[in-house]
Amino acid sequence: MKPTGPIPPDFVRREGELMIGGRTAGEWTELAGDTPLFVYDFAIVRDRITRFRAAFPGVSLHYAVKANPHPPLVRAIVSLVDGLDVASAGEARIALEAGMDARHISFAGPGKRDRELEMAIDAGITLNLESAGEAERALAIGRGMGRTPRLAVRVNPDFELKGSGMKMGGGAKPFGIDADRVAEVVRRISDAGAIYRGLHIFAGSQALDAAAIIEAQRSTLALAARISSDSGVAPPHVNLGGGFGIRYFAPDAELDEKSVGNALASELARRPAVLADTEFTIELGRWLVGEAGVYLTRIVDRKISHGKTFLVVDGGLHHQLAASGNFGTVVKRNYPISLSKISNEASSCTVSVVGCLCTPIDRLGDQVELPDAQVGDMVVLFLAGAYGASASPQAFLAHPAAVELSIDGTEIL
Ligand SMILES: *Cc1c(COP(=O)(O)O)cnc(C)c1O
Repeated sequence: MKPTGPIPPDFVRREGELMIGGRTAGEWTELAGDTPLFVYDFAIVRDRITRFRAAFPGVSLHYAVKANPHPPLVRAIVSLVDGLDVASAGEARIALEAGMDARHISFAGPGKRDRELEMAIDAGITLNLESAGEAERALAIGRGMGRTPRLAVRVNPDFELKGSGMKMGGGAKPFGIDADRVAEVVRRISDAGAIYRGLHIFAGSQALDAAAIIEAQRSTLALAARISSDSGVAPPHVNLGGGFGIRYFAPDAELDEKSVGNALASELARRPAVLADTEFTIELGRWLVGEAGVYLTRIVDRKISHGKTFLVVDGGLHHQLAASGNFGTVVKRNYPISLSKISNEASSCTVSVVGCLCTPIDRLGDQVELPDAQVGDMVVLFLAGAYGASASPQAFLAHPAAVELSIDGTEIL
């Protein structure tokens, strides 16, 4: 048997049935008309937003759409956050259609095509510039359209967020402009008459260590101040990044966001004069939505091979790649997993839960302890609210895409 991650405490059982947004897996399957499916419980997202507001008064909150772009979910989030961060023109359209004011949308991401720059400038979205070349293209496109672009500069910081699952800063990176070259680009876009929106400094993702985030935020503020003094232009806005992680695996401890908030408040209280009028933002994806989602998949076959039991389900890595350990993880570990229904007398056994794809990497639970399960039972994979459906190779093997449903209270969004 191998360990599995902790089930988020937001999920409880009633008479042996796991409740997901007030409904059982069977009720969800009936609603969806098929399995597998993702369910996102907006009440959990709202709870995380409330926690953020309590811990970070006076700091703006942006949602990073790439974590979960399901349109009904994004629509629900729009009214509770201060802005959306997008990483493509497609996500920018989702953000606009969800009702977010273009002035509160920022568009980061390497390799923006001319037509994406054009779409963003036309809509009034802020571009977080990833290179000096992109700055020139945005200025030229703005001139050609007779529009003044709103431009911020993404900085490739000269430090990293320690212990983060995905490193996005420090050293040679495709993201942002190297810190020591940013002041020059800020002067260039200001002199060219663009609306300068400030700096974006994202040092990493999926960090659970409050001390590491505190240290990165302190370095981020110092870097923003240094760049702003060097360029002689005060930034209206500084996006401090995010990187708040969630507990996927057994030994993880929950991130203590309150101590991060306290430390940031004291850093901000003594920030240098050049940042006195700056608005600060934290951008979060998985911390807001990751724990709100479950992936439900039905057992199609149960077999024994060389003494080991396999539960073969109708889902797989084509919907939930991350749970198979093939999305930005080095060591494969088990996400929290359970059966939707557990009877009192159920004995448990060690099984591997494998997907329906013809590849050995399609393994959603490796030698996990589960109550005795039969064909037809539903398996629940937790932490499926971020980087699930949209971050998985849904076209692989030509199985249908998973159904996605979002719920808020009793209302399907
Ligand atoms: C992916 C990404 C995020 C969101 O990261 P999470 O780990 O989901 O919070 C935020 N900002 C940028 C620039 C990103 O690329």
